[in-house]
Amino acid sequence: MSSLIQYLMCPPDHYEVDYVINPWMVGNVHRSSRERAVQQWQALYQHLSQRAKVHLVEPVQGWPDMVFTANAGLILGSTVVLSRFYHPERQGEQPHFKAWFEKQGYTVYELPPALAFEGAGDALLDRAGRWLWAGYGFRSMLESHPYLAKWLEIEVLSLRLVDERFYHLDTCFCPLSEGYLLYYPAAFDAYSNRLIEMRVPPEKRIPVQEADAIHFACNAVDVNGTILVNWVSPELEATLQERGFTVVQTDLTEFLKAGGAAKCLTLRLNETVAPQTDPVATVLSRTVTLQGHLVDSALLTEAVDCIVENGGSFQILKFHLGEKRQSTSTVELSVSAPTEEMLDTILSGLIERGARLAEQSHQDARLERVQKSGVAPDDFYVTTIYPTEVRVAGQWIPVQRQRMDGVIVVKGSAAYCTLIRDLQVGDAVVCGVEGIRTLRQASKERGSQEFTFMGSGVSSERRVEILVEQIAWELRRIKERGGKTVVVAGPVVIHTGGGSHLATLIRGGYVQALLGGNAIAVHDLEQNLYGTSLGVDLVRGNAVKGGHKHHLKTINLIRKHGSIRAAVEAGVITGGVFYECIRAGVPFSLAGSIRDDGPLPDTEMDLVKAQQDYARLIQGADMVLMLSSMLHSIGVGNMTPAGVKLICVDINPAVVTKLADRGSLESVGIVTDVGLFLSLLVQQLARLGQGYERPQP
Ligand code: NAD
Repeated sequence: MSSLIQYLMCPPDHYEVDYVINPWMVGNVHRSSRERAVQQWQALYQHLSQRAKVHLVEPVQGWPDMVFTANAGLILGSTVVLSRFYHPERQGEQPHFKAWFEKQGYTVYELPPALAFEGAGDALLDRAGRWLWAGYGFRSMLESHPYLAKWLEIEVLSLRLVDERFYHLDTCFCPLSEGYLLYYPAAFDAYSNRLIEMRVPPEKRIPVQEADAIHFACNAVDVNGTILVNWVSPELEATLQERGFTVVQTDLTEFLKAGGAAKCLTLRLNETVAPQTDPVATVLSRTVTLQGHLVDSALLTEAVDCIVENGGSFQILKFHLGEKRQSTSTVELSVSAPTEEMLDTILSGLIERGARLAEQSHQDARLERVQKSGVAPDDFYVTTIYPTEVRVAGQWIPVQRQRMDGVIVVKGSAAYCTLIRDLQVGDAVVCGVEGIRTLRQASKERGSQEFTFMGSGVSSERRVEILVEQIAWELRRIKERGGKTVVVAGPVVIHTGGGSHLATLIRGGYVQALLGGNAIAVHDLEQNLYGTSLGVDLVRGNAVKGGHKHHLKTINLIRKHGSIRAAVEAGVITGGVFYECIRAGVPFSLAGSIRDDGPLPDTEMDLVKAQQDYARLIQGADMVLMLSSMLHSIGVGNMTPAGVKLICVDINPAVVTKLADRGSLESVGIVTDVGLFLSLLVQQLARLGQGYERPQP
């Protein structure tokens, strides 16, 4: 071919907005004027013909979007990768474009049928021909990119489109001569923006505002420094002129109704590439299998969300749907991502959801040694609340002390969760995603117990009583079998008059550990000493004159005795939550915070020590009751593995949702006043009676 730039266009003889396959078409079906469209197309044709050689492909009745020749295929040298349209509405264009390319002597490559790719609409050469920018997210699939790299022998950089209005890469991205780039950053995800910024120096980037973007300023054709475009703002025009470009605006509004403009209406036929480039696509793929009640539990939806939200893409290779409701389903997915880092993030998310990597049965977990104490190797695996196993020396071993946001250390034939800060030089830390699997099934116990109310979710007020009955029943069973219930409580428990009920639960043997902060203890002790909580009379509900001093006097008194225990033993404290804890030998831990008054001598102000203490007390818990303390409940939630029943009571639905939504079946949230909740709970336990004794009337 000659060195004159050549383009392919298709006259708009059959152009119409006949259907809706992008947001621009909505409301525009049959609303475009053929006459105006022809005029506008002719004007563009003239502009282009003055500067380049334009070939025409015969339009075909019934395929109105053929006018957008950019989507015919992707050309480099004498090779074409033919488009495989995503929407059936455009698939009929393929054979016509194929015939045209073959007639011109191009070598035509066709992608496998399942792989959508929309040609030069979604793949744009860096103007120096050193690499190919390829879009995905709406029309073209990420999985098509490795084929482009192989067939065109070029490096492919994948960019993820995130704004439906800019559904093709050429609607928001336009490489210009001299290495300039005209683009709309908000159309891309953060990763893609980072990639663009790494490849294109700041002085070469020309980011456009939304007003320009929606007039298709980036859907421009650059013919040797002359930019043909539908419309640009005066500011953008000035910017382009400053950089040496000539801007020719030509009205293409009739085509905007179908979501296209200058670039969409043209296909550059003689693209060249710098000779020394290596064919590389960084796109990586792995096969994973998910098994379980995929549809019922929404696990499949969650898995797909995890892939897409993290910039990946997937194909379903096999899908076996369980025939009966109780039978499980299996799905095999091929997951792709543009970088190893992104693929690892996705795979970790899928492993968290119980997915197995296909080749996993043959690979051990990758272990790396800690080089500096308290610092993990770079790509350490971040733990979740779910029971996890790691493969070491060919054996799958369970990870002990499971918790979230930790790391897994392997020692001999054992593995355990620990925190980054506790890592020692030489510890072998599990890294990457190989040889790791989690178990997302409900705990074994659950099936036999029919603990049906514990479906994860937030209750409304009218369900509170039913929930309380079931929690009481469960508390009683835990007590009877010598299990462990841990209570996490905030000062609101005391303010709302719930202190005496909590004290009753402790006295009754229903609580095996109590966790909280400085405040709950101070308020509980103040109530015992003065009948007030932060100066408010809890019986009458009114502020007591000078009452706020009670708070500090309480702290001072306990400090004088040295500890809450000492004050109880001295007979100074005669009742309340902490009195009952000491009497019944129930361990408690008070974690400090910045807003603490005093603090009490029992409050641990070293937060690392406080966290360790909390973790120790949570170990082995069957149930955790979280009572109106966002701070402490979130802390506890992070330390608690899946399988522990977690009840969160708070007046604020947002707090409840945050705490109860762990993707774990055993958590439940109750939106109610904590005083009321505790009072109902105590009443219900009294109704049920202790052990086998007769219930109270
Ligand atoms: P927080 O904000 O973490 O949690 C309070 C929760 O109680 C909120 O989620 C709120 O929605 C909920 N709530 C409010 N009224 C309720 C009701 N009637 N029924 C049910 N839920 C209700 O605060 P926190 O846990 O109270 O305190 C955070 C930290 O500050 C703790 O460590 C605490 O000890 C400390 N603190 C110290 C003092 C003090 O020393 N004087 C005083 C207050 C808090």
